[in-house]
This record gives sequence, C-alpha cells and structure tokens, in this order.
Amino acid sequence: MSEQFAFKAEIQQLLNILIHSLYTDREIFLRELISNASDALNRAQFEALTHPQMLDAGIDLRIDIKADEDAGTITVSDTGIGMTHDDLINNLGVIAHSGAKSFIEMLKANQSGAAAPVQDLIGQFGVGFYSVFMVADKVRVVTRSANPEERAWSWESTGGDTFVIEESERSTRGTDIIVHLKADARDYLQTWTLREIVRRHSNYITFPIYVDGEEAPANKQTAIWRQEPKEVSEEQYNEFYKMHTLDFEDPLHRITMRADVPFQFYALMFIPASAERTILSRRTEPGLALYARKVLIQEYNKDLLPEYLGFVQGVVDSEDLPLNVNRESVQANRVMANLKRSLTGKVLSELKRLAESKPEVYHKVFAEFGRLIKQGVVVSPEDREPILPLLRFPSTGSTHAEQWTTLTEYVSRMVKNQTDIYYVLGDDFGSASRSPHLDSFRKRDIEVLYLIDPVDPFMLMGLTDFEGHKLRSADDVDIDLRDIGEPPKDESEDEKSAPLPESDFATLRERFAHILGDRVSDVRESKSLVDSPARLVGEGSAPQRNMYRINRLLERDAELPVKMLELNARHALIRNLGAMLAQDSADPLIDVVVEQVFETALLQEGLHPDPASMAQRLYQLMQAATRGSGDPS
Ligand code: ADP
Ligand code: MG
Repeated sequence: MSEQFAFKAEIQQLLNILIHSLYTDREIFLRELISNASDALNRAQFEALTHPQMLDAGIDLRIDIKADEDAGTITVSDTGIGMTHDDLINNLGVIAHSGAKSFIEMLKANQSGAAAPVQDLIGQFGVGFYSVFMVADKVRVVTRSANPEERAWSWESTGGDTFVIEESERSTRGTDIIVHLKADARDYLQTWTLREIVRRHSNYITFPIYVDGEEAPANKQTAIWRQEPKEVSEEQYNEFYKMHTLDFEDPLHRITMRADVPFQFYALMFIPASAERTILSRRTEPGLALYARKVLIQEYNKDLLPEYLGFVQGVVDSEDLPLNVNRESVQANRVMANLKRSLTGKVLSELKRLAESKPEVYHKVFAEFGRLIKQGVVVSPEDREPILPLLRFPSTGSTHAEQWTTLTEYVSRMVKNQTDIYYVLGDDFGSASRSPHLDSFRKRDIEVLYLIDPVDPFMLMGLTDFEGHKLRSADDVDIDLRDIGEPPKDESEDEKSAPLPESDFATLRERFAHILGDRVSDVRESKSLVDSPARLVGEGSAPQRNMYRINRLLERDAELPVKMLELNARHALIRNLGAMLAQDSADPLIDVVVEQVFETALLQEGLHPDPASMAQRLYQLMQAATRGSGDPS
C-alpha cells in the first residue's frame, strides 16, 4: 500500500530551482546528507543514555557511503535515530528545515531586489536534504526508527510536486538515502571522488564515514576542539567554523580553551565576522553547542555564556557533566554555573588581549558587536569591570564616528583639575559634534565623549563611574568648569560683545517662560554658551534624564522630558530679540522666534518629535528676514 503526498509549496519552489539549474558546487549535497546522518547519530547516542531499551542500543555508530555502478546510485547509510512514518512526512516534505528555510527566504529577497545570483549562493549555505536533487533524478529513503515499536518505511520522490510513502524492510535502526544520479552526475560513482568530497567537507564529523566498505574511515573524525591548538592549522579551524555555522567568511577571532581543574572541559569559540546572520547562517539561534564526553547534548545552549555575548559561536565539551542528564536539568547543574564563569572570563580577557595586540581586528569586533558588549555593563553587572576596557567611543578629539577612544585613554588626557568624564548624547556624530553643550568644553580644551549609539543611554544605567571618575553629561545644569583646565585665551574677546542689559534680559526671560509654559522647567541665563544662542539642560540623575531615549530604544511611547532652557545673553540673536521686545513688545515676530529657538534646541538634543512641523515657521522667519530686500510689497 502506498500513500502519495504533496510537498509544501515552498519546498516545491525550492526543488524546482534545484532540479532545473546547473550548479558548480553540486558536491555539497554529500555534505548535507552526511550532516543529517551525523545529526541522527548524535540523537541516537543521546537517546541511548536514557532509553537503553531502544532498538539496537549497542550498534556501531557509523556512516557508510556505497556506490553502485550498474544501478547508477550512491547510498548514504547511518545507524542513527531513524524516522517513523510521520517523521518522514513532516521532515521530508512538509516542514522546511533550517538551511532550506534560509534558502527560500533568500530566494524571496532575490525576487524583490538585486542580490547575488542563486548559483553563487548555493554552496555558501546548506539547503539541507533537498540539495540532493541537484544531482539526483530520483531519491529513495529507507528508514527504521529506534523506537522498537515502529517498523521500516520508505519515501520516494523524483523531485516533482509529490512524494510517496510505503511500508518497507530494514533489519536494523537507521536510514539509507539512495540517490539515483542524473546522467551528468555519474562522476560521483567513483570511490576516490567520494573520499575526496568527504575529506573536503566532512572531515570533522565525529562519527566514522566509510566509503565503499573500506576498512579505514575517510574522515579524520577528531573532535577538533580536543586537539592541541598547535596541531591544528588556521585553515582547519576556519573550515570547522564554516561547517559549524555555515558562514562563508572566516571568523574575526578564535578562542581555544582547555581546563582540568576544577572541571575538565574543552572549548573552541569564534567571533564571527558579521553580526548579520539572519539569512546566510545555519545557526539561527544564539548559543554554543554543548557536548558531554563527546556526545552532543544541546545544539544551542544559552547558559554557557551571558546573553550579551550571544554572538560568540562554537563548541564546549565537558568531561564532568553527568551523561544521564536530560536537557532540562543541564541548566540546573552546578558544573554549568562554573563553566559559564570560566567561559565568560575567558572571552572577555581574550577580547581585551585582542584589543591590545591587534587593535584593527578588535575595531571590527567592536563595530559589529559593540552594541551587545555595551549592554553587558547593565545586564551583567558582575562582568562590568572586565567589560569597561572593551568600550570604545568617539569624542571631541575624533574626526569621524569610528575614530574611538577608550575610557583609560580619555582619563590620561584629562586637563588640570578635571576629575569627571564628560559625555554628550546625540543621534549621530554630526549632531553630537555640533551640540551647544560643547561650547564651554571646547573653549577650555576639555575632551567630551560622544555617546551616539542608541544603546548608550541604556548603557549609562550601569556606567556611572570609571576608576573613580564620575561620568557626567555635558548638559548637566550643575557643571561648573571655571577651575578646570587653562582659562580660555580668548576670554577678553568674548567680553567685547556686551551681554543684553540685565533688565532687558529679565523681560525676555519672562516672555520665554510665558510662551513655553510647562514645556520647560525654567528659563535662565547661561554661563557656558559661546557660539550658540540657547540650549536645553537636564536635571536629576542620568537614568531619569535618559528615560525618553531608553523608551525610544525599546520602542515604547514616552513623554518628552521637560528640561531647562538656557539663553546666551551675549549672542547676537538673543540681544536682537531683547532689543525688539524693548521697542515693541507686541511685534508678532517675537513669539515666533521664541518658539523656534526652543524647537531648535530640541532638535539639537535629538529630541524633536516632528522636525518637519517646523517648516511653516521657518518660511515665516525667512520671509521676515528678506523683507525690504527688493520685495515690492
Ligand atoms: P536540517 O538538517 O537543517 O534539519 P534537512 O533538510 O537537512 O534540514 O533535513 C530535514 C530533516 O529530515 C531533519 O531535520 C531530520 O529530521 C530528517 N532527516 C534527514 N536525514 C535524516 C537521517 N539520515 N536520519 C534521520 N532523520 C533525517
Ligand atoms: Mg541537514
């Protein structure tokens, strides 16, 4: 009796492309079949720990590849977990698996815009089981589940829109994939070709792979993370990394670790080259692969590293995790807490070392993952100290956004009597560098950090001081720079432009306060502004003041923070406005200018909720400014 099923629509789409295109990288189909066999063996090995009554509990764990010249087939067999009737339908027809899913997403992206042609991409990431249809015109799967109550089943398809399932025979548990090669793919019948492909793409599969019944396995099968680092070449590590993640770029950095006390474990970790890993990566979730005594017990373990280091990829293999654990209790095991501490410490110290020895490589790491690292300051306060040396910021000393300083370097450049570290928040380098808050700092040559990353306000919740120096926002009401640094050389020059007379300023202040109402907490004369007419200053603690930005980061609605408006009584605009007010307090232009001064200050803070709304008022002001210059009216 046979049953026929239709492939899910997106799998049909995938098959259609795989069958009807010509690829240069076709040999990767074998890597995919071997990888599935290895997964199935891993699962069988894991199940055997808790279900000794499973079928063929003591069977050799191995993968066999056999070619049959006459039939034109190659068969990939494993003694893994096998599949039931329903597994076959779901896993090989209905549910698109990781590699295939990414591939389909890629195709959709391709259709809607320009991207690399499918041909170039196919070898770069797994398209899973279905990639076999690049070389096959018919595939038959014979499988028997490790569940002793199940019987054997077969699955067959010619890569059209349907597949057929039938009862079948198989004496032991496991799976055979019988590949009927297309006429143009008969090269793969040769033993040496198969051996070459195995070595090229599957050398580090930990189960032995035998080609055509040869006695020695074709793959090395060493767990690469257990090898002495000096015995493994850079290429081999990178090859393993690519197999593990399916990234096509080499990692930026590699971290090897082995420990004997208090627990024995091996770790091999990598920093990927890019944070973009939605489409081209097999590893769609964060987490390290966890092995206990060479048995894979979790593909994505999220308890080995803190969340903010979730970008780190790799493998941890512990001798001390009990083998009879179930996946849930791994988390509760005390060995795990210990592993996490060691691994986290190692990653952070390696990053620091990298920053010192290869600053250009660390620069890339921070550019990709700095945003995550910064979050660690807040979410993992216990790691704060080792994270601080990893932080990088642009500052008033930078000419562009990626010219960074460390906090230590900043401190080393502090001027006379300076004890605090100053920063200014902004949306980007340009707006931060034009911030009115910088006037008085620039005048005294005091460096100010630019905190222009959206996560910076959040980071500040955990970064209140560094080596005894308080971090202070340049917009802080209480900052007094009078005794810090050298007195400005051009002070006398400033004095040349006399401030608005006191009584006129008081009237002007009144007018601002009246018009702006509760949009500002107060209006006062500034002691620090030089080139800017006005600025908004903050009061209260940094987290309080930054709540608006933090909420915006979390995409939550938030009320605009109410700040104090400072006016520069020496600035021509403020003096003119004061004079206008003294002359004719009913001049309608006054209120328009007051509004625009306030909104411009909001804009400079990166706080204006709707900059386009200023357009009308700006036209009105420009019209007034051009009045009398040849305008007939
Ligand atoms: P992925 O390996 O990313 O899950 P594949 O397309 O390679 O996606 O495989 C689809 C699914 O088919 C696997 O997840 C697994 O459940 C099942 N499968 C494939 N090959 C085997 C095999 N040799 N033994 C057991 N199950 C298999
Ligand atoms: Mg697979």
